[in-house]
Amino acid sequence: MNTILLGPPGAGKGTLAAMLKDNFGVLHISTGDLLREEMKGGTDFGKEIKKYVDSGALVPDEIVIKMIENKLSHKDKSPKGYMLDGFPRTEVQAKDLDRILKKIDRPIDFALYMEASLPVILQRLTGRRVCRKCGAISHIKNRPSKRPGICDHCDGELYQRPDDTEETILNRMQVYAEKTAPIVDYYAKQDKLETVSGDEETEELLKTVTKIWNDGHQSYKAKSAERN
Ligand code: AMP
Repeated sequence: MNTILLGPPGAGKGTLAAMLKDNFGVLHISTGDLLREEMKGGTDFGKEIKKYVDSGALVPDEIVIKMIENKLSHKDKSPKGYMLDGFPRTEVQAKDLDRILKKIDRPIDFALYMEASLPVILQRLTGRRVCRKCGAISHIKNRPSKRPGICDHCDGELYQRPDDTEETILNRMQVYAEKTAPIVDYYAKQDKLETVSGDEETEELLKTVTKIWNDGHQSYKAKSAERN
């Protein structure tokens, strides 16, 4: 199954993607993770993108498009399909993605849109902690690690992303509303959209998405025929 995860920051895309990866063995490609990996290296390129990421702005389209194109071109690494998390984020990226997928003949089956409300987003992101070593996500209240500040999976150090402060989150939400929200419609028009509530508890959400995953995306027409 080839999918795109859409939704505002804090909708739970990364957490859901990690579980879908474990359950279905699909390749999880997160542009945010790829960018953070570059930033870790401290190269000039890493420093250049850091100023965008830390302020909550979008990294220029051509940079992320190149990253995605490189990743997706390794077909043999993802026999069970791919899941794009955090990409596309602009209409330019969505159109370029169509071009790339056509070239490599790996079209998406559906785009999963995770809706979420602002209070839930703020609570999730301000309490989110990420492992420096393995990238596992925990939350100081919702899913605390057994030992404060230490990752349950690999004993790595947990840290708060610099863009998870309230001020930067509000900036990211504004960027999302202006640049990313319109592409939900882009997939709806192609009859490729599935919508779920990102406010749901993770376990419930996983059940809902697993059902969509197993049943496959039915076209809107097929769904309305079923209802009538
Ligand atoms: P995320 O981990 O998906 O929340 O992304 C963290 C940050 O990385 C975003 O706030 C952007 O600065 C940058 N980023 C991630 N994906 C993209 C993308 N597709 N286009 C532009 N910037 C991105």
